[in-house]
Amino acid sequence: MIKNIRNVFCVGRNYVMHAAELGNPIPDEPLIFSKPTHAITYMTGETVQLPGTLGEVHYEGELVLHIGKEYKPGMQVDGIVDAFTLGIDFTLRDVQSDLKKKGQPWLKAKGFRNSGLVAPFQAFPGVEKITEISFSLVQNGIVKQEGTASEMLFNLQTIIDYLGQYYGLAEGDIIYTGTPAGVGPVQDGDKLALNWGSDELASSTITMN
Ligand code: ZN
Repeated sequence: MIKNIRNVFCVGRNYVMHAAELGNPIPDEPLIFSKPTHAITYMTGETVQLPGTLGEVHYEGELVLHIGKEYKPGMQVDGIVDAFTLGIDFTLRDVQSDLKKKGQPWLKAKGFRNSGLVAPFQAFPGVEKITEISFSLVQNGIVKQEGTASEMLFNLQTIIDYLGQYYGLAEGDIIYTGTPAGVGPVQDGDKLALNWGSDELASSTITMN
């Protein structure tokens, strides 16, 4: 299903092995950034255009939650999340490294057009089921990333409470919950697919210029 999207929150370094592969310390509270809604594109078979002249663009396959109602303290994940999907948090990695060195915000590396892909949403099956099934990102037929929500440093309830208390959460907000290890660069002509268990939720062909 295609749902309206309001605020776009993303969790950084939420899988220990991914923080390690980029040489980043493990955070002691959720590391949150956001993307403009203009960055978000549904994966509906259209070719996706990414910047090709600003250094490496990395894929980050992620579990994405859709919020169904306004957050109130004490709410459980199953009570506030109404849908989920998989998405790709594209990152201009060289730009991000430069921003980190300068101590500047990540927006330029994380907020460009098409930097947030989402497969169509599925009905939320409950937090227990969600943490049982593994998801993967497949690049040109090769599995590059595989993870399950059970490996997250900050679990879904912690993320919901953290975002709800600090920033507010309400209907239409979505959350990219972080990426497992195995991130890498995309090339012009790549086909990227997102699998939930053995089901392909969506795929896109990439062009870069
Ligand atoms: Zn990410």
